[in-house]
Amino acid sequence: MSTTPSLSPFSQGPRGLTLEGVALADIAARFGTPTYVYSRAALVAAFDAYRHALGERPALVCCAVKANSNLGVLSVFAALDAGFDIVSGGELARVLAAGGRADRVVFSGTGKSRAEMRQALAAGIHCFNVESAAELDRLDEVAAALGTTAPVALRVNPDVDPGTHPYISTGLKSNKFGVAFSGALALYRRAAALPNLRVCGIACHIGSQLLDPAPVVEAAGKVLGLVDRLAAEGIHLDHIDLGGGLGIRYRDETPPTVAAYLAPLLELFKGRTEALCFEPGRSLTGNAGLLLTRIEYLKPGEEKNFAIVDAAMNDLARPALYDAWHDAVAVMARDLPPQCYDVVGPICESGDFLARERNLAVEEGDLLALLSAGAYGMSMSSNYNSRPRAAEVIVDGDSVHLVRERETVESLYALEKPLARE
Ligand SMILES: *Cc1c(COP(=O)(O)O)cnc(C)c1O
Repeated sequence: MSTTPSLSPFSQGPRGLTLEGVALADIAARFGTPTYVYSRAALVAAFDAYRHALGERPALVCCAVKANSNLGVLSVFAALDAGFDIVSGGELARVLAAGGRADRVVFSGTGKSRAEMRQALAAGIHCFNVESAAELDRLDEVAAALGTTAPVALRVNPDVDPGTHPYISTGLKSNKFGVAFSGALALYRRAAALPNLRVCGIACHIGSQLLDPAPVVEAAGKVLGLVDRLAAEGIHLDHIDLGGGLGIRYRDETPPTVAAYLAPLLELFKGRTEALCFEPGRSLTGNAGLLLTRIEYLKPGEEKNFAIVDAAMNDLARPALYDAWHDAVAVMARDLPPQCYDVVGPICESGDFLARERNLAVEEGDLLALLSAGAYGMSMSSNYNSRPRAAEVIVDGDSVHLVRERETVESLYALEKPLARE
């Protein structure tokens, strides 16, 4: 089967698979493998799809930094005046280092430390998306100590089933995220009464890889009901944050376009004055990146054939973690009968697979591209098995920019030391 997820920036030609104007084989020769390769044009197009669909409506599109936190990628969005959705002080530092604006940052996450709150207050972020009563109290106290006021939204949990993988479903009562919808009104009253908080918005995020806007529309309807009840009590919000979650095509999924996803929401918000905020991650970077890897060995077996590549689950965890599908494409077409392979890495775990049961016409030494790897790829990578992390490059037209050098082995243990012998 040959699936071609969002092949717009990719094409197969005489130089093999190319991204924008650059042959992947040239990237491998120059930077080695495994390497994450992103298309600047695809990143820009994904962001522009949100901007165009939102039109003149007051809106803030905040890229979810956790999906791809490379400074080069973030700088592409910063140049488009994007906002950013962060979940740690580390991500805030990255946004600022990449040239992003602090006043367009929303800070999500269930476990913000005092130090992270101080850092975000000092930077002057747009809003804290608060996830518990205890966090409200702590934020008020930290803001008071700094002699400032913290802008807050409550992340409410609308108890809507997004119909996605249970690990990436976040808006059910049973999830750790957000404050219960039933208690939100009381919590808003409490927030409004705290002297060092300024209540400015409301947020929800119900899950990821959504292929249908209906659950988000349902959640947004519940949120609007709450916004109106708050207004009746004199608590006026200036923005409504509907989170991220729009899915992408990995294999044969048919996600709505950004415009089709936003249309029913824009309809619901017609005539309202609140600014809208979105926190897309996967739909901005997922199909703008691939993982380029080289086949080290072909290992035919009695039951299965393996293509053992130089990338592994430490580079791309999604297949091992979620049983996720990434298309595996040979960079150079070969005139061979295709054979069925499991594409696996060198790590000592049976879960170390990147793609299973794929028909590939390949030989040892050939390059493979694992597509749709731009989101939750490098940002979830690890050094398991003492493997230096991959390099990352951004293709821009005919140029290639190295935006993360390949790690060295020495850097992996630079912070460690052996115990001195007695
Ligand atoms: C992960 C996350 C996002 C991004 O989700 P995508 O599915 O990648 O769009 C946005 N907001 C919050 C609060 C998140 O946790």
